[in-house]
Amino acid sequence: MTIATNISLKPYHTFGTDVYAHAFAAFHTQDELAELLDYATQQQLHPLILGGGSNVLFTKNFDGIVLKNELKGKSVIHENDEHILLKVAAGENWHQLVMYCIEQQYAGIENLSLIPGNVGASPMQNIGAYGVEIKDVFESLDAWHIKEKKLIHLNNADCRFGYRESIFKQELKNECVITAVTFRLHKKPIYHTSYGAIQAELNKMGVQELSIAAIAQAVINIRSSKLPDPKIIGNAGSFFKNPTIPISHYQDVQKAYPNIPGYPDKTNSNLIKVAAGWLIEQCGFKGFRKGDAGCHALQALVLVNYGQATGQDIFDLSIRIIEAVQKKFGIILEREVNIY
Ligand code: FAD
Ligand code: NAP
Repeated sequence: MTIATNISLKPYHTFGTDVYAHAFAAFHTQDELAELLDYATQQQLHPLILGGGSNVLFTKNFDGIVLKNELKGKSVIHENDEHILLKVAAGENWHQLVMYCIEQQYAGIENLSLIPGNVGASPMQNIGAYGVEIKDVFESLDAWHIKEKKLIHLNNADCRFGYRESIFKQELKNECVITAVTFRLHKKPIYHTSYGAIQAELNKMGVQELSIAAIAQAVINIRSSKLPDPKIIGNAGSFFKNPTIPISHYQDVQKAYPNIPGYPDKTNSNLIKVAAGWLIEQCGFKGFRKGDAGCHALQALVLVNYGQATGQDIFDLSIRIIEAVQKKFGIILEREVNIY
């Protein structure tokens, strides 16, 4: 194992800002991970686990040790007429996993096509898109508990999944390293096509017979047409969560803005989920650019680095947006991206 020092993180995160890590190493096995965590403790270096770096913003150099997850492998651990339990190592690429499942006819994650990053980060914020979240197919996970130096096993309820939320953003924040995730996938697909533009895209594609491959392709087409490719323009997807507000607040805003998009909250009938992108757009930020930090022209929820922006430039823009949205609508936006 090589431990490098003073390493540029530019190739390792999708915002592509030029920040440095005091130390950096990759782990390929659980033993290597344990060894590196011991090293971090001895050297008093704070560890940061990095997958694909597609949900992080570094506002300054990182003075701890970045541990890049390279745990690989997947296996079917149980199968019956209805389901497959597929255990996947945390360093596997998420989209490649989706494509593998489609080839194998394992249904359940097709709506989550083209989400960047690794399997290990997927439970962190209960990744979701087009009406599906990983909690819908999540069976359990293994994680290395850093202080207790042992492997722990968490089931679906243990993870306390919520909207872009889990125990790993709360009580277990920075406490453990997810090493493998087991998914319960279906042999008989349950199609989710009512969300967003999926049905319209399927029609455009001329799909006669629905399949998980067709849904995945529809999602890929929609995403490719409106989301900036991080290889070309630095970004971390949606920068903010969609806020949920009391119905009374929603109705007040609706009086002045009848077109405000709102969706009933899945878990609380007194709350309405509002599209953060729409709020930001109403404040005039869609396509806004200051230096190389900006708000994407096609999706205001995505903050972008046009080249030379620093993490602080992007963070400062996010503060401006939060203040503007609060002033105009009395709604406080919460960042979805993990800030370091
Ligand atoms: P990283 O950015 O590497 O890490 C994110 C956080 O998780 C960090 O705090 C890190 O320390 C921690 N972490 C990572 N791996 C582990 C581990 N094994 N154990 C413990 N902690 C860990 N998200 C969605 O939910 N839905 C979308 O539709 C979506 N679309 C996106 C589109 C684009 C273009 C981009 C750039 C991002 C998008 N995202 C989306 C956000 C992002 O892709 C996901 O959150 C993804 O799961 C992050 O994976 P990662 O491996 O890149 O995580
Ligand atoms: P969109 O279709 O323009 O819709 C805007 C917002 O309205 C979405 O964020 C979505 O909330 C909500 N929405 C739309 N239809 C809905 C319905 N039928 N029921 C409940 N809520 C509905 O969104 P988009 O920007 O193109 O994104 C499409 C999907 O990809 C969304 O699910 C979005 O979350 C996901 N995505 C996520 C990221 C990320 O980084 N987190 C980045 C890009 C896209 P939800 O976000 O709650 O689904």
